[in-house]
Amino acid sequence: KKRIAVMTSGGDSPGMNAAVRAVVRAGIYYRCDVFAVYEGYEGLLKGGDLLKKMQWSDVRGWLSEGGTLIGTARCMGFKQREGRKKAAANLIERGIDALVVCGGDGSLTGADLFRSEWPSLVEELVAEGRFTSRQVAPYKNLTIVGLVGSIDNDMSGTDSTIGAYSALERICEMVDFIDATAKSHSRAFVVEVMGRHCGWLALMAGIATAADYIFIPERAAPYGKWQDDLKKVCQRHKLKGRRNITVILAEGALDNNLNPITAEEVKKSLVELGLDTRITTLGHVQRGGTAVAHDRWLATLQGVDAVKAVLEMTPDTPSPLIGILENKIIRMPLMESVKLTKQVATAIEAKDFEKAISLRDTEFIE
Ligand code: ATP
Repeated sequence: KKRIAVMTSGGDSPGMNAAVRAVVRAGIYYRCDVFAVYEGYEGLLKGGDLLKKMQWSDVRGWLSEGGTLIGTARCMGFKQREGRKKAAANLIERGIDALVVCGGDGSLTGADLFRSEWPSLVEELVAEGRFTSRQVAPYKNLTIVGLVGSIDNDMSGTDSTIGAYSALERICEMVDFIDATAKSHSRAFVVEVMGRHCGWLALMAGIATAADYIFIPERAAPYGKWQDDLKKVCQRHKLKGRRNITVILAEGALDNNLNPITAEEVKKSLVELGLDTRITTLGHVQRGGTAVAHDRWLATLQGVDAVKAVLEMTPDTPSPLIGILENKIIRMPLMESVKLTKQVATAIEAKDFEKAISLRDTEFIE
């Protein structure tokens, strides 16, 4: 009987609970024992009550809930080999040798590293007298399957990550609210949205709310010149009779000298145009709240496939990441996606914005 653990790690995102629910229930359906790891990698290190066997009814009502009910944490200990050894011991103690991780690229990198080290960690635990060779014999390999939980939609190779559409929906709703008051007073608003290295939320929200101007990291605004362009565009829109002006700014927006573009700077340009301008930083409302339908079904289908992947994998199969590509749930090598994702950040740092855009593979950016 396969014993699978499921956990959430890194920043929370709406739909993570739906993913946990799907793994628990698909696992039970396929006659596995399923455990939830509470508090991210912290739970793996501490074990005990933080590794809980789940029943079908334990995840009842979790489909729509925002955040992650099993908790998440940043865990420095798991970045150390000693920490990962403790985690291995806790898993072996419970007879678990498969782990489904729902998180961002950091969490998935950590999981893949854990898998590659697993045989040597087990060997050391035996050498230290923690287990006998006989006890560890069934646990020669660790199976890892990744699900991407992130509101930023920042993983290469998958069209959408669990949580991105919920955050987008929330942003659009908030911008609609802001637009109503902005129109009443003929005001301009600079709305700052999340997205540290990825402009997907800002770009899609901008399109969906007919924003006047959008700043994203992948398309760096020309240093010293964007102010004039912003003014020109907003002036044109005002002359055409638009009452409100909305500028959407990704928190990671840059100019092409890699200077961050701040909401204050954008506001300054709009004030120079004579516009009564306010800044709204949406902050954590973007992360909370219920999951939209897209994230519920995405997390459910991916959670079911994660269990199937656990049951089908051999020790030689590279750790898979469950993604969605052209409307199909797919599996791809986890580390390839992580590598591609990191290449975007590297391309931006090297000021190679063309490459960053091509790696993002987002046709809308053009
Ligand atoms: P988000 O995109 O929301 O920030 P993330 O998964 O990238 O999500 P991180 O804070 O990078 O978030 O990682 C979460 C946890 O994963 C870390 O606190 C740490 O325990 C573990 N982790 C991250 N990177 C590594 C690594 N290279 N090796 C081992 N563990 C790691």
